[in-house]
Amino acid sequence: MNKLLLDYNVLAATKTRLTLNGTRDQKPQPMDIERIFGENVFSLEEMKNRLPKKVYESLVATIEKGEPLSPEIADTVALAMKEWAIEKGATHFTHWFQPLTGMTAEKHESFITPNKGGGAIAVFSGRDLIQGEPDASSFPSGGLRATFEARGYTAWDPTSPAFIMENPNGAYLAIPTAFASWTGEALDHKIPLLRSMHALDKQARRVLQLFGVKNVHKVYSTVGSEQEYFLIDEEFYYRRPDLTTCGRTLFGAKPPRGQEMEDHYFGSIPERVLAFMLEVEKELYKLGVPVKTRHNEVAPSQYEIAPLFENANLAADHQQLIMQTLKNVARRYGLICLLHEKPFAGVNGSGKHNNWSMSTDTGMNLLDPGDNPHDNMQFLFFCAAVVRAVHKYQDLLRISVATAGNDHRLGANEAPPAIMSVFLGEQLEDIFNQLENGGVRGSKQGGLLGLGVPVLPPLPRHAGDRNRTSPFAFTGNKFEFRAVGASQSISFPNTVLNTIVADTLDEMATMLEEKLKARGKRTKQAFEEAVAEVLREVIHESKPIIFSGDNYSPEWHAEAERRGLLNLPNTVEALAHLLDEKNVQLFERHGVLSRRELESRYEILLDQYTKTINIEAETAEYIARTMILPAALRYLRELTETLDEAKDLGLNVAGVRETAEEVATLLNELRQRLDVLIAENQKRGETLQENARHKCYDVLPAMQAVREVADRLERVVPHEYWPMPTYREILFVK
Ligand code: ADP
Ligand code: MG
Repeated sequence: MNKLLLDYNVLAATKTRLTLNGTRDQKPQPMDIERIFGENVFSLEEMKNRLPKKVYESLVATIEKGEPLSPEIADTVALAMKEWAIEKGATHFTHWFQPLTGMTAEKHESFITPNKGGGAIAVFSGRDLIQGEPDASSFPSGGLRATFEARGYTAWDPTSPAFIMENPNGAYLAIPTAFASWTGEALDHKIPLLRSMHALDKQARRVLQLFGVKNVHKVYSTVGSEQEYFLIDEEFYYRRPDLTTCGRTLFGAKPPRGQEMEDHYFGSIPERVLAFMLEVEKELYKLGVPVKTRHNEVAPSQYEIAPLFENANLAADHQQLIMQTLKNVARRYGLICLLHEKPFAGVNGSGKHNNWSMSTDTGMNLLDPGDNPHDNMQFLFFCAAVVRAVHKYQDLLRISVATAGNDHRLGANEAPPAIMSVFLGEQLEDIFNQLENGGVRGSKQGGLLGLGVPVLPPLPRHAGDRNRTSPFAFTGNKFEFRAVGASQSISFPNTVLNTIVADTLDEMATMLEEKLKARGKRTKQAFEEAVAEVLREVIHESKPIIFSGDNYSPEWHAEAERRGLLNLPNTVEALAHLLDEKNVQLFERHGVLSRRELESRYEILLDQYTKTINIEAETAEYIARTMILPAALRYLRELTETLDEAKDLGLNVAGVRETAEEVATLLNELRQRLDVLIAENQKRGETLQENARHKCYDVLPAMQAVREVADRLERVVPHEYWPMPTYREILFVK
């Protein structure tokens, strides 16, 4: 067994050869992306070919303009969809939804219904398409759905196309759906996301109207999220109970060589990994997911995949498909894909940079500076609204990424800190400062835009001074929210972003309307003056959130405190703000979440946090007690036996004695700390809140204390006795 451990390098190499050999002799087939892209998607194109013109047009009106779906067309769409799916080899269909677990759920139903004659026919009606009733009593509802009426239903989301999921032994049709209770409350992540997009649409169009932009029918948020992940050999995974049950290592000494050589980032991609990536991309192309980039990340065995941005709803669905595909395909290469935010202590964690902007149906990016004074003014208005939103709702942004896993990452010194701030870049920050100071208000001099600031110089999309330490950075024509965790659904963070920006746009539109009214005549100059005033007030108030320095430094922590910014270091402290009245009001005001819906989310999030840590703590106890302690004991016995035997021979055994003492001391310490962990694991708080606090402030430190001494033992106990693969092996075998 132990021999095996040392042979992993050989093993992995063999595996690569085995997996790749099939294709090695043939010339590699270039991927015909144009042909396969969207091949498994019931796209607009496909619908146009298969649906009567009227039905198609009605559906497009729903998808593009948000007009209500007319139920009469459902049967026709269902028939076409079924035919298409069966041609693609599907035998089953499922309503595919996103319950509050943060993952996706599906229950498959066969198309085939037996008929009286003993045969079978394929049945799939409009009703089957529009609505499903997954017996959903065991999805978290946070008290929204009393168990006696445990019913929830799924409802077709025509704005996200249906797709075929393939398996070597068959295929099924997946229909993106929303999931609600019979009383109409959202039980999923999609409904609030759609509602928040609606709220943003409304307020953004209001602002555009004020700026005289008339031809826009819809504004939607756009999202592109860069997914980081680790790939490790499955052999290691199966031999580590912490990885298999918790998705992260609970033990493990830092390897002699970590990421300090900085040779992995953007380095050449190992062959087995590249083969895996190519297959992932192929699968995703078929599903119409526009993946664009791949590269090595900072930590050893860490990689990244990023799609092109899409409308936020589609991006959120596609994000789920990306995570699922990464996991599925890895298995075919003898690999495991770890999406946990911090699988290995002391090594970079994994996040998901959420690039966010707003776009119109006419193709205008509202966060693109543009190249004339009018566009710039509009850009500054939207940009200021985002800055104000981050300032006013720092707590919500922090909450939107608060999970037990992400707590290990936020605040550690590679990831964004738990304190929210905005990085604008030198040029834009300078312009904001000028706007705040009033400048030469209202006078349009040469080279100056009406706001008294120089016309925006073109902001390069990849400005050289991009600040990698900022949690929320302007990157040329979008904001990049970097605190999102690698394993989480991007739906809630984007729901929060859309809602808070809708809110500040609402406020700023009202401010602007009032200032215009006070001026009476609506001249170009009056308008510019009014905009300048709004911007000045907004920037002045929101300024504390703007920070361009090093977010990891202790000075920033002190400075942030002076500025009155929130520092919510963990999930428990963050969640304590979710139900603050201002937040309840915000979500209700924009029709995104009712008080009850928000309360249910609070409960679910807290409960998930508590359960996660409980599982980790029990796993840590198990590993320490049944694996690490016995390994150390075994070594100690070997040492004491050596001592005995050597004494008989009259040898000098000072070194053996010293080693035995070292091991015995560590063993005692391990036992003591383990006892504390065992005791903590027995305790439970009275309420959900107390329980969560106990996990955060007592259980986690007890686990950490056990780990600390276990990691010291790992450096002392012979490798062949150590019961689990070490970081050195896991991270460096490709
Ligand atoms: P990086 O240097 O961070 O990799 P990129 O410009 O390549 O930056 O973009 C990273 C991500 O941002 C991609 O997913 C990209 O599609 C997305 N992105 C680009 N423009 C927008 C936008 N207007 N809205 C949302 N996401 C965008
Ligand atoms: Mg990025």
